[in-house]
Amino acid sequence: MYRSPHAAPLSTVAESRRGRTAGRFCRDCLSVYPLHASRHGGKPTDGRDHVASPCVHEGRPFTDGAPWWEPAVEILPEPQPNPEPLAAAN
Ligand SMILES: [Zn+2]
Repeated sequence: MYRSPHAAPLSTVAESRRGRTAGRFCRDCLSVYPLHASRHGGKPTDGRDHVASPCVHEGRPFTDGAPWWEPAVEILPEPQPNPEPLAAAN
Protein backbone atom coordinates (compact mmCIF):
# COMPACT_ATOMS: atom_id res chain seq x y z
CA MET A 1 0.00 0.00 0.00
CA TYR A 2 1.37 3.37 -0.95
CA ARG A 3 1.58 5.85 1.86
CA SER A 4 2.54 9.45 1.53
CA PRO A 5 6.08 9.60 2.91
CA HIS A 6 5.92 13.06 4.40
CA ALA A 7 4.22 12.29 7.70
CA ALA A 8 3.96 9.30 9.97
CA PRO A 9 2.88 8.58 13.54
CA LEU A 10 5.50 9.73 16.02
CA SER A 11 5.92 6.29 17.55
CA THR A 12 6.79 4.70 14.21
CA VAL A 13 9.55 7.15 13.31
CA ALA A 14 13.07 6.71 14.64
CA GLU A 15 14.05 9.56 16.93
CA SER A 16 16.85 10.64 14.61
CA ARG A 17 14.45 11.00 11.71
CA ARG A 18 11.63 12.93 13.32
CA GLY A 19 10.95 16.24 11.68
CA ARG A 20 8.43 18.84 12.64
CA THR A 21 4.97 17.88 13.71
CA ALA A 22 2.83 17.75 10.61
CA GLY A 23 -0.53 16.66 11.88
CA ARG A 24 -2.42 14.29 14.10
CA PHE A 25 -2.64 10.60 13.45
CA CYS A 26 -5.81 8.74 14.39
CA ARG A 27 -4.93 5.22 15.49
CA ASP A 28 -8.38 3.99 14.61
CA CYS A 29 -8.74 5.04 10.99
CA LEU A 30 -4.96 5.26 10.46
CA SER A 31 -5.20 8.68 8.92
CA VAL A 32 -3.42 11.96 9.47
CA TYR A 33 -5.45 15.09 10.11
CA PRO A 34 -4.16 18.63 9.81
CA LEU A 35 -2.78 20.37 12.86
CA HIS A 36 -5.08 23.34 12.45
CA ALA A 37 -8.10 21.10 12.85
CA SER A 38 -8.98 20.90 16.52
CA ARG A 39 -11.34 18.03 15.90
CA HIS A 40 -11.20 14.75 14.06
CA GLY A 41 -12.80 15.64 10.74
CA GLY A 42 -13.96 13.41 7.97
CA LYS A 43 -11.24 14.45 5.56
CA PRO A 44 -7.70 13.38 6.38
CA THR A 45 -4.67 14.85 4.67
CA ASP A 46 -3.09 11.43 4.56
CA GLY A 47 -4.65 8.02 4.76
CA ARG A 48 -7.29 5.99 3.07
CA ASP A 49 -9.28 7.90 0.50
CA HIS A 50 -12.44 5.97 0.92
CA VAL A 51 -13.48 4.84 4.34
CA ALA A 52 -16.37 2.42 4.41
CA SER A 53 -17.74 3.70 7.68
CA PRO A 54 -17.00 6.87 9.59
CA CYS A 55 -14.32 6.60 12.23
CA VAL A 56 -15.68 6.20 15.74
CA HIS A 57 -13.68 9.27 16.73
CA GLU A 58 -15.06 11.49 14.01
CA GLY A 59 -16.08 14.84 15.44
CA ARG A 60 -14.11 14.36 18.64
CA PRO A 61 -11.63 17.02 19.71
CA PHE A 62 -7.97 16.06 19.67
CA THR A 63 -7.57 16.31 23.42
CA ASP A 64 -4.00 16.22 24.69
CA GLY A 65 -3.23 12.80 26.08
CA ALA A 66 -6.20 11.07 24.51
CA PRO A 67 -5.13 7.51 23.72
CA TRP A 68 -6.69 7.28 20.28
CA TRP A 69 -4.38 9.72 18.52
CA GLU A 70 -0.76 10.75 18.50
CA PRO A 71 1.23 13.45 16.72
CA ALA A 72 2.31 12.77 13.17
CA VAL A 73 5.77 13.97 12.28
CA GLU A 74 7.58 14.60 9.05
CA ILE A 75 10.13 11.96 8.23
CA LEU A 76 13.62 13.30 7.73
CA PRO A 77 15.82 11.74 5.04
CA GLU A 78 18.14 8.92 5.98
CA PRO A 79 21.33 10.32 7.45
CA GLN A 80 23.94 10.40 4.72
CA PRO A 81 27.44 9.07 5.45
CA ASN A 82 28.97 12.06 3.67
CA PRO A 83 26.52 14.89 3.88
CA GLU A 84 27.02 17.82 1.58
CA PRO A 85 28.10 20.87 3.51
CA LEU A 86 25.21 23.16 4.17
CA ALA A 87 25.39 26.63 2.73
CA ALA A 88 25.87 29.16 5.48
CA ALA A 89 22.57 30.75 6.32
CA ASN A 90 22.54 34.34 7.36
ZN1 LIG B 1 -10.13 8.28 13.06
